[in-house]
Amino acid sequence: IDFIQRLPKAELHAHLNGSIPIPTLVELLSEYESHFDPANPKHQLPPSEIRAGIDQLQNLNLSSLNGFFGPFTAVYALISTREATLRITRAVLSQFLDGESPQCSYLELRTTPRGSGDMTRLEYVSAVLEEVERYPEEKAGLILSLDRRMSLDVMEECIKLAKHLKNEGRRVVGIDLCGDPAAGDINTLEPLVHMAKKAGLGITLHIAETLDNPPEESLKLLSYKPDRLGHATFLNEEALAIVLKEKMCVELCLTSNLLCKTVASLDAHHIRYYLKHNHPITICTDDVLPFRNSLQAEYALLMAQPPLGLGLSEKEVARIAQMSMESTFSTKTTK
Ligand code: 5GP
Repeated sequence: IDFIQRLPKAELHAHLNGSIPIPTLVELLSEYESHFDPANPKHQLPPSEIRAGIDQLQNLNLSSLNGFFGPFTAVYALISTREATLRITRAVLSQFLDGESPQCSYLELRTTPRGSGDMTRLEYVSAVLEEVERYPEEKAGLILSLDRRMSLDVMEECIKLAKHLKNEGRRVVGIDLCGDPAAGDINTLEPLVHMAKKAGLGITLHIAETLDNPPEESLKLLSYKPDRLGHATFLNEEALAIVLKEKMCVELCLTSNLLCKTVASLDAHHIRYYLKHNHPITICTDDVLPFRNSLQAEYALLMAQPPLGLGLSEKEVARIAQMSMESTFSTKTTK
């Protein structure tokens, strides 16, 4: 564990609202409960429903990824104010970056610009950035996520927001595509990705997360030439050939894949394919709230002997950590 702690490494795939430490969420829930007024339109859900949603997120019993997205509604009901957004962002950043043995040297956090509750999208993202920017540039950056359930107009609004904030010198470093992989039409995204690239933003796309994502969809997403890919679990040979050729870094989330049952076992995990091809990968947590993992625990899985882990050597793991530092969207991390 000492070896893992000392390795300089980057966390490049962590969703803000999926990474809230449980004590922070419990505090927010108890405050919500004590002020709950059913007549107040801002109190979207009764506390019992929020509690049930959080319980569901913390005790995942999924047969597929389908059931994963619904319970996030409970989290969103608790973070509808600027004050709550500041608090959860501070807690998430601290969980990764502070303390005697921080989880990582650099955190590229991602979040979906939310325009509900008390805040506009700009106000929400500005609150998140306020906390991100308390850390130096070589420690933290922010990616704005487009949710596949968004309309094209809203996606465009988010890209323009990212561009505007970047031009203002704020710490937005990239764009992501996430959310329910069964939702939305990705065929219309090309001009948006182009706009983001032109603005100097890095591009990462969740791709081929489930068997239901058709090969044509993955090929279309790859044609947008993203810099990095999230999960990339079910790519066919044609798609894999492109990924290898273009050296697109793959963000791999071992525990997330196992708990969402998109991968049957560590032994069957596609990390083995990328290691065999000496392809850039980065190990990530995805959502520590439901998956109850940590970045150091994900690295421990790399080193533990099979069947518990992958049995990689210190040298191999050090190389993986190095690849994570080389794949950031920040120009300030040590490449
Ligand atoms: P947020 O963007 O609100 O900060 O973080 C939570 C959101 O991230 C979820 O509502 C969901 O849209 C997205 N998300 C979290 N984990 C995953 C994942 O494993 N796959 C996909 N496709 N989206 C995810």
